[in-house]
Amino acid sequence: MATEELIRRAPGEPEPREPWYAAGLAFECRRCGGCCGGFPGYVWIDRDEIAALASYLGLAPDAFLATYARRVGGRYTLREVAGWNCVMLRDGACSVYDARPVQCRTFPFWDEHLGSPRDWAAAARRCPGMNSGRLYSADEIDQLRRARARAR
Ligand code: SF4
Repeated sequence: MATEELIRRAPGEPEPREPWYAAGLAFECRRCGGCCGGFPGYVWIDRDEIAALASYLGLAPDAFLATYARRVGGRYTLREVAGWNCVMLRDGACSVYDARPVQCRTFPFWDEHLGSPRDWAAAARRCPGMNSGRLYSADEIDQLRRARARAR
C-alpha cells in the first residue's frame, strides 16, 4: 500500500476496491448513429456547449437554441425529430461530431454502463464500438465517468 494512501485514509476506513474494469475497457466509436436515436431521451447542453455548437454551425447562440434545442426544467436539451432521432443526426451519423457535447463525448463510460460487467455487456449489444478499438485505462474511464456525471 502506498504511504500516501495510508495518510489519506481515515483509521478503520476500508481499503478501496479496484473497479471491475481495472484492466481497462476497449471502445472506438464506429459513427453508426445507433446511440443517437430510436428511443426518447435527453442530450443536455450547457452554456459552453451551446456556444460551441452554435459556432460550429455558424449561428448565434440564440438562433441555434431556437432551431436545435428545447428547454426542459430550466435546462436545454437537443431536439428530437422523427423516430426520436437526435436533430443532429444526418444520414445515420452525427453532423456535429467534433463539437458534440460532454454527454456524447463520454459515451459509453456512463455510470449505468459501468456498474458491473453485465451492465457493460448489455450496453455493448447496442453499440458496435464497445469492446473493440482503443483501450481506455481505468483512470481514463473514471475521468470520463465523472465528467458525464457532472453534466447530468
Ligand atoms: S452506437 Fe456506439 S459505435 Fe454507434 S455511434 Fe453510438 S457510440 Fe458510436
